Amino acid sequence: MAVPKRKVSPHRRGNRRAHDSLKVEAFTECSNCGELKRPHTMCHHCGYYNGRLVLAPKGI
Ligand SMILES: [Zn+2]
Repeated sequence: MAVPKRKVSPHRRGNRRAHDSLKVEAFTECSNCGELKRPHTMCHHCGYYNGRLVLAPKGI
């Protein structure tokens, strides 16, 4: 709602910002190493996706 800045009361401003916080994204366990990873993405710990090595981890 387009309203001059000082006309929005602290209460109203707080109510508006109540939904601004970032949500915790979904995580699943990697089936290969058990590390937490985002669903439908390669595991950043072991480089596996769908039971297959996609990208070898650094340092090996
Ligand atoms: Zn993994």
